[in-house]
Amino acid sequence: MRQLLDDVLSGHRLTEAEAVSLLKVRDRRIWEIAAAADAVRERKVGNVVTYVRNQNLHITNICKNICGFCGFGKPKGAEGTYLFGKEEIQAQVALARERKVTEICMLSGVHPDFTLETYEAMIGWVRAMMPEADIHTASPDEVAWAAARSGVSEAEALERLRKAGLGTLQGTGAEILVDEVRRVICPRKVDTHTWERIIRLAHGMGIRSTATIMYGSAERCEDRIAHLGILRRIQDDTGGFTELVPLSYLHENTPLYTAGITSAGATGREDLLLFAVARLFLDNFDHIQISWGKVGVKLAELGLCAGGDDLGGTMFCDAVSVDAGAEGADYLDPATMRRIAEDLGRELRQRTTTYGRA
Ligand code: SF4
Repeated sequence: MRQLLDDVLSGHRLTEAEAVSLLKVRDRRIWEIAAAADAVRERKVGNVVTYVRNQNLHITNICKNICGFCGFGKPKGAEGTYLFGKEEIQAQVALARERKVTEICMLSGVHPDFTLETYEAMIGWVRAMMPEADIHTASPDEVAWAAARSGVSEAEALERLRKAGLGTLQGTGAEILVDEVRRVICPRKVDTHTWERIIRLAHGMGIRSTATIMYGSAERCEDRIAHLGILRRIQDDTGGFTELVPLSYLHENTPLYTAGITSAGATGREDLLLFAVARLFLDNFDHIQISWGKVGVKLAELGLCAGGDDLGGTMFCDAVSVDAGAEGADYLDPATMRRIAEDLGRELRQRTTTYGRA
């Protein structure tokens, strides 16, 4: 393994089989893998920890998909559902403006009644109040749904969303890009091929996106790496991904965990190795984000020593994580981020959605 890590540091591109073997390490070699990933991180982006001043906007928890790993989405008509109208959305945006956020992250359930026109209207309401903010929204699943509901092509849907004010596309809904796993954890979402097609289409149109992986539910190490393999191939061809956002499965209030189909999420070892191996495997990505809302602030700091260079956003609210059982996932003060960065001898820097200086 030492030789393999040396080879990677000298430019060898990890094969999928090699990456799987690294993900399976259980002994003190974990620290060697993390150290190699940290060295690659330092070479690529220097001693800087970035974050974006963003705010989540959860317009509805009504969702057509009802994924088994999710504690947030609910079927239409179920108890506890909500749907924001124009006034409520604009009240949230007014708060975001006061908080000087640079990114509005519209992250909601995929409402079965939403059409392309609904998305255009909602994005337009936000855009009218914050013309300078990056509106980060619409997963490939939402693009496919809106296009189908309105009877237009996916390319037209993307173009119209961009016209309405979309800045960057969400690389969410990827979960694990292996259809066998998707049939268990999110059978109503777009399949792997469709997710990839829409992301490639967006990148080809100059719309950049995040890349995500939701790990720790019902997949194997081999599936995690197959997923990263798809992301690496897309990035080779398009260069459109801004970063990888690893999302550790939050199990507590989710149907799959309650039914005994998944374990209680990734362990700390699995989290750290996922960050580190992603950094080593994704040699064409500049940024690996560590989601403090998913792994907690202390493990997030260790993630920054294992290949991570970005702490994601301030968020201000994260009902998706909180509803799944995460505590304290709502807001992280930049002062706390600075403490973490400086504790590691690094500089904290605010960034834009696409990693420019904010
Ligand atoms: S993960 Fe997203 S698409 Fe799936 S049920 Fe939850 S809100 Fe809906």
